[in-house]
Amino acid sequence: MAEGTKVAVLGTGIMGAAMARNLLAEGMEVSAWNRSREKAEPLAEDGAKVADSTAEAARDADFLLTMLADADVVEEAIAGDVLPALAEDGVWLQMSTVGEDGSKRLAETANEHSVDFVDAPVLGTRQPAEQGQLVVLASGPEEVRERSQQIFDAVGSKTVWLGEAGAGSRLKLVVNNWIVGLLGVLAETVAFANSIGVDPARFLETIEGGPLGLPYAQLKGNMMIEEDFPTSFSARLARKDTGLVLDTAETHDLEMPIARAVAARFDEAIQAGHGEQDMAAIYRAARI
Ligand code: NAP
Repeated sequence: MAEGTKVAVLGTGIMGAAMARNLLAEGMEVSAWNRSREKAEPLAEDGAKVADSTAEAARDADFLLTMLADADVVEEAIAGDVLPALAEDGVWLQMSTVGEDGSKRLAETANEHSVDFVDAPVLGTRQPAEQGQLVVLASGPEEVRERSQQIFDAVGSKTVWLGEAGAGSRLKLVVNNWIVGLLGVLAETVAFANSIGVDPARFLETIEGGPLGLPYAQLKGNMMIEEDFPTSFSARLARKDTGLVLDTAETHDLEMPIARAVAARFDEAIQAGHGEQDMAAIYRAARI
């Protein structure tokens, strides 16, 4: 079934380009669009068609896969003729991180066009995306689950189906709060170690292998120690995700002072010019 399936991929950044390559590797036909066309062009070597417009990419596609920065960008990208251009029974797999409100808005747009909408944000970053090892948090209509699974199998190693559209984005917010909180306290811990004369490498060695020694702490902690932040997930988008957590908490009357502090630290790092570096560059703010 995968072979010959037509997929329109809107957004070929770090994640979208890697996902498109994995779809192509499964023999699917990929039509890719990116605002900065030069980022989509290398996909032509892997067999993708590079489209000049979102509507052109979507023409007769069985699936529309959006992997763009945020909900406003997705909304803008699919405005106009995109959803009507899909094949009959075309399914929209919305895989960008857009939060609860964003997912709801986009689902409404899909509904206006009678297009089935699957809310399917992912866990995993650049390397898992390249290796087809993402975890897909999928939610949407029962009728399209089996069909959508071929796409999720191509880009991920695990799909968790969670019920009605929106449930995936809610779980993603919860996981993201955990990630950015860890990162914020890790940055502060490395800065604290340095400032009191403790080698932060000693801290990482000490926790390694035990219940406190998360592989994530080793990965991001070493980036902080080396002050080298090659981007797997940009600080700018991590700040966006922290904002989505805070906005959602507010609508549910929950105060989240820790997330707020992490957001402020991201803002400092971004203002200091580190927004396009990896999210671990939050350390730049902790050590200023
Ligand atoms: P990225 O490399 O920065 O790519 C962002 C994409 O959005 C690019 O295609 C970019 O186009 C496009 N874009 C941004 N602003 C735009 C605008 N105003 N109009 C049109 N297009 C615009 O980001 P990414 O890491 O691939 O992330 C994509 C999505 O996946 C985000 O929602 C992110 O939160 C989520 N995500 C990322 C990771 C990760 O670890 N990287 C993990 C899970 C989820 P240009 O190339 O023209 O700028």
